[in-house]
Amino acid sequence: MIPLLISPAVIIYKESTHYLSHSGYNLLEGVESMTNTVTQMSDRSFSQSEWALRVDLAAAFRLAVHFGWHESVANHFSAVTSEDGKTFLLNPRWKHFATIKASDLLKLDSEDEEVMVREDAPDPSAWGLHGSIHRLVPDAKVLLHCHPPYATALCGLKDPSIKPIDQNTARFFERMEIDLDFGGLASEEGEGERLARGVRRHSVMIMGNHGVAVVGSTVAEAFEDLYYLERAAQTMVLAYSTGQALNLMDDELARTVAKGWDAYREGLAEGHFSYLKTMLDQTDSSWRE
Ligand SMILES: [Zn+2]
Repeated sequence: MIPLLISPAVIIYKESTHYLSHSGYNLLEGVESMTNTVTQMSDRSFSQSEWALRVDLAAAFRLAVHFGWHESVANHFSAVTSEDGKTFLLNPRWKHFATIKASDLLKLDSEDEEVMVREDAPDPSAWGLHGSIHRLVPDAKVLLHCHPPYATALCGLKDPSIKPIDQNTARFFERMEIDLDFGGLASEEGEGERLARGVRRHSVMIMGNHGVAVVGSTVAEAFEDLYYLERAAQTMVLAYSTGQALNLMDDELARTVAKGWDAYREGLAEGHFSYLKTMLDQTDSSWRE
């Protein structure tokens, strides 16, 4: 990939099929201290910060496949690109998580009433959920929604809450929204608005009869909560499967453990996500394109 032109404002790359390769992106990091705009030979351009967000979100899709959280070509992850939280990236309709690249992600305006008549219109249920949440909850920077096996098994129980029976389950004590008002696919009217009220109260939500939604300020942070949520759900399902009574922590202890996580939260999230991206690169780094 050879720079055709470098000016203080714009870098143009002769690369029409691939966007910026992994090595190309690293190369740019030094050069880009002069500018915050990267343009290619097509009509698409991304700021450095948007590109970094695209790369992280693309990694999250590939990692969801690695952990077995994907389902057909459904489910959606999004991340906001604008200060006001209204413009966001979203996976294209019916594209398998295993094939998603950074440059594939749609960029949508949550207040765009014409979005569903676009040629590249998103999945209606994705628009219902992610469009509503980004329109109504500007602080929801990254939103991951999927149906991972153990958490979804819990969602089918009369009481889908996660009980404090170990450190991972106690991480979510009094920090989780439980929505029991499932009203059909997220494309149904009112479903997105109600779920938006839920994530405004808590950044981790069990959606009864459906799946889970996790909000974070970065992709790494949201991904880490999703990771621990599925781990905690797995522990719950395995513990329930023994048929023995659960040994619950008392509320005070559970609260202390949940608070104890705060000191580790950011460091673990960044370290884990960084490692996982390296792991992806060992077999296929096309998500970075
Ligand atoms: Zn869903």
